[in-house]
Amino acid sequence: RFPAFLVRDTPEGAAGSVEWLGRDDLPAGEVLIEVGYSSLNYKDALASRGNKGVAPSLPHVPGIDCAGVVVESSSDTVSAGDEVLVTGYDLGGASWGGWSGLVRVPAEWVVPMPAGLDARAAMIYGTAGFTAAQCVTAVSDRVAPEAGDVVVTGATGGVGVLAVAILSKIGYRVTAVTGKSEQEAMLRELGASAVVGREAVVDESGRPMLKEKWSAAVDTVGGATLATLLRSTAHRGVVAACGLVGGAELPLTVYPFILRGVTLAGIDSAKCPREPRLEMWRRLAGDWRVELPAKMITEITLDGVAGRVEEILSGQVAGRTLVLPTRS
Ligand code: NAP
Repeated sequence: RFPAFLVRDTPEGAAGSVEWLGRDDLPAGEVLIEVGYSSLNYKDALASRGNKGVAPSLPHVPGIDCAGVVVESSSDTVSAGDEVLVTGYDLGGASWGGWSGLVRVPAEWVVPMPAGLDARAAMIYGTAGFTAAQCVTAVSDRVAPEAGDVVVTGATGGVGVLAVAILSKIGYRVTAVTGKSEQEAMLRELGASAVVGREAVVDESGRPMLKEKWSAAVDTVGGATLATLLRSTAHRGVVAACGLVGGAELPLTVYPFILRGVTLAGIDSAKCPREPRLEMWRRLAGDWRVELPAKMITEITLDGVAGRVEEILSGQVAGRTLVLPTRS
């Protein structure tokens, strides 16, 4: 038997706790993986609260990421003993996720561990790093480093820190937007050349276009922030939009698109097709390899996730949280 964090319906609403499961409790799939590490993303925090958009049915095991070793496989593509990782698809969503000693998944979801990474390093990236890599790809496909500053919002969050670090590593000048002014030194250590408050990228004047300020943007916030970035991105620039921590609406006109040729690049991680998925992991393990400072990485066990969920939902967490599928 193995421990897992199970979210169940209770009279007081959805609530999670650690329970002991057997292999027969797991969903069907070709590959059984012993989890070495999982991680805690914003989406996992929503699933832990029983958010139906993320976790359509209860009981549910959250955890959209996991990395570990294959225990059993009925697929030709992966064998027992292989080191692997899984991010996205339905893991921790429609299917039970990585906050568990064992997971069972379809073979198609399984990515061989890229050379140069191990389970811990892969989960320091997790969906956050994978998403950051896709955002950086959207930026670097369209805008050269010489074109000007790239702005990253939610900069101390999981996607944010990794986007700042990768963009600076490959030669972009990065402005980090954060609500945590006390994290300025950390963001500079990651490579940001300027750090500004969240209010610097929120303009609610209603003007259809603003002064050109950025060559490109990586946005995890959405809402008025995303609308402001699109209106202040330079001619032929790009905004990679991946998140909604600040809102899902988008108050905007078409002018930034038809007068400045700005591209709004949508980023989805869960259903990214296999070829670009493998390419993102090759980059993360290769030319784009970044190491976060130790103070940016928090390790917790299954007993620690409930408390950490509160912190992430109130925007207090900086960096990445790793989840060990054990009891403390
Ligand atoms: P995270 O670690 O919780 O980081 C989010 C960061 O956003 C916070 O650290 C905070 O940074 C900032 N923030 C929080 N509340 C805010 C608010 N009300 N207004 C403005 N900024 C706020 O989350 P994450 O895992 O990096 O994910 C970030 C977003 O991307 C989430 O919306 C997530 O669902 C989304 N996401 C999408 C995909 C995809 O496939 N499209 C993949 C991964 C993540 P500061 O204090 O530094 O401002």
